[in-house]
Amino acid sequence: ARVVDPGGDDEERRIESALRPRRLIDFPGQPRVRDQLGLVLEAAKRRGTPPDHVLLSGPPGLGKTTLAMIVATELEQPIRITSGPAIQHAGDLAAVLSSLAEGEVLFLDEIHRMARPAEEMLYLAMEDFRVDVIVGKGPGATAIPLELPPFTVVGATTRAGLLPAPLRDRFGFTGHLDYYTADDLTTILTRNATLLGVEATPQGISEIAGRSRGTPRIANRLLRRVRDFAQVHGKGVVDHPAAMSALSLFDVDDRGLDRLDRGVLEALCRRFGGGPVGLSTLAVAVGEEADTVETVAEPYLVREGYMLRTPRGRVAAPLAWTHLGLTPPAGGGT
Ligand code: ADP
Repeated sequence: ARVVDPGGDDEERRIESALRPRRLIDFPGQPRVRDQLGLVLEAAKRRGTPPDHVLLSGPPGLGKTTLAMIVATELEQPIRITSGPAIQHAGDLAAVLSSLAEGEVLFLDEIHRMARPAEEMLYLAMEDFRVDVIVGKGPGATAIPLELPPFTVVGATTRAGLLPAPLRDRFGFTGHLDYYTADDLTTILTRNATLLGVEATPQGISEIAGRSRGTPRIANRLLRRVRDFAQVHGKGVVDHPAAMSALSLFDVDDRGLDRLDRGVLEALCRRFGGGPVGLSTLAVAVGEEADTVETVAEPYLVREGYMLRTPRGRVAAPLAWTHLGLTPPAGGGT
């Protein structure tokens, strides 16, 4: 597992849950989404009706689950949590929907991975608060309409573009989460150091914030590694020397790139003269699956301007050369 992987496994999610902000007012960053969502929720509360369904989109680790839980807390309603991959049949969804209480929040993580028949059932349920329960099999099967109490769906997706338009249209409010600024990450890390009961200096926090790829999940994870380092090798304080040593131990460089990211850039520049080179050739050169290079390393490298994806293949940007301390070939390199 990479220390800079923005995804989290179950164990990590359990550790994280202690660090989640519970109220909108305690949620740093994403000012637009926070203000817009705050308004939607406040208005619904004043009217005494459930708010519009909420869709949260954006890369992993930016706070979609956290915001879904905040929606429920702010509405003072219970939350039911499930995910697209867990709903493989319409019946799975029917079971969840038919057991919802009035006003309850249904969080559907990775909603773009739900099975198609379930998706269709969800449109109807979101729009008309009704599901058709199929009783029996074959030609004798009948659909019995079942009224549902009003509820709120909070959907989360890393790929809003993959949602079929009819489903996207059922969400009255869509919030797109973006990468966090270093200042926001500093706020988050400072608060979390306190929650973890560890002393931290502003220099230590700032070093971690600068290497966290704009992602709170990565920031939290690096904080825990620096804390470990400080407790084993230092005075137990998350300070600048501890951050420098721990991050170097875990191969996270000063721009938040790890061994895989740098391996991709090294191969691209040194072996292929800056490209263009095909994804699979590049992957073989770094000894990884093409899929790993494409989904794990590339998005951040492209976003930060280290490399470009062109129709002819991957190409190193000038920043890749300078980051590796190399001189781009005459004539550009892009
Ligand atoms: P997602 O669902 O988008 O993958 P999560 O909501 O699970 O992301 O967030 C991942 C981790 O980052 C959690 O530990 C959460 O507490 C933390 N986190 C995310 N956004 C924020 C934020 N704005 N403030 C503080 N912590 C945050």
